[in-house]
Amino acid sequence: MELTFADVRAAQEPVYRHLPATPMWAYPTLSDAVGAAVFVKHENVQPTGAFKVRGGLTLLESMSPAERRRGTVSYSTGNHAQSLAYAAAAFGAPCTMVMPAAANPAKAAAVRGYGAEVVLTGDDLEAAQEYAGKLATETGARLVSPGDTPELLAGVGTLYLEVLRAQPDLDAIVVPVGSGTGAAAAGVVARELAPGCRVFAVQSGASPAAHDSWRSGRPEQRPNRTRVDGLATGRGFPLPQRLMQTGLADFLLVDDEQITDAQRLLATAAHTLAEGAGAAALAGVRSRPDLFAGRRIAVICTGANASAAELAALAATPRG
Ligand SMILES: *Cc1c(COP(=O)(O)O)cnc(C)c1O
Repeated sequence: MELTFADVRAAQEPVYRHLPATPMWAYPTLSDAVGAAVFVKHENVQPTGAFKVRGGLTLLESMSPAERRRGTVSYSTGNHAQSLAYAAAAFGAPCTMVMPAAANPAKAAAVRGYGAEVVLTGDDLEAAQEYAGKLATETGARLVSPGDTPELLAGVGTLYLEVLRAQPDLDAIVVPVGSGTGAAAAGVVARELAPGCRVFAVQSGASPAAHDSWRSGRPEQRPNRTRVDGLATGRGFPLPQRLMQTGLADFLLVDDEQITDAQRLLATAAHTLAEGAGAAALAGVRSRPDLFAGRRIAVICTGANASAAELAALAATPRG
């Protein structure tokens, strides 16, 4: 195995040195609306506005002092960038983040706010990845893959320890997926702590690379057209895909409108402003009453960093 339960348990030490556990609440009006006992795990309250910061801190902890001095370089359009920049700042390590030239300026500003250097270049994440690789070779900094780095999975796995300690008898945990680090870690933790609890992944049908890779059993490339930033991934990442093969009960697709509807429901029934990716798990639950009606379910509200486009979609008239 490339990620064990022991790796997740060991990650508690660096994570809880920097961050408190996050709350998980049930809201009667939300459960009534969904027709199931729904528990919302609030990763939207993390200092960076998303769960990934747990992974960033775990990665920096694992590096030697010499490695930390050489720093990290990575590529991202959003929340991974903020996570790694936050963690690098916490450990006093240099960090360079390569982002596509058209990246959301507010996200680039947030990354700079943590003291990281931002390089804006290229049309897409693939171009950013290539440039980050060149920088790593030139500078000796560690090149960090947002999906295929075991320390990131171990760190994000700590949130599933919290979920299953708070509610040991869940029927299901539902996790939104971009690269799959969170869903892969959820499977590893659930297998150990609650073998009867099934883990479901959710992605947008407008960017189905992780879903299609899971179905075919090998990393696939797919068009990447969702407006939901955190789920916008164009390819399957091998490490989380291998873990998800054995860790998931099923992988659901929803459309962007269903995600926006779920954001509205979180806002009204759970007084929670989620970004689209943070509402995708709830959208998945609402899309499949055959799987979830009457069950006890945790939905992971993974993040709060809604873009201007997402906020505008929220304010538009709901369909129906
Ligand atoms: C990155 C992200 C996801 C997807 O997580 P993966 O580990 O890449 O699958 C979901 N929600 C939010 C808010 C994110 O930032």
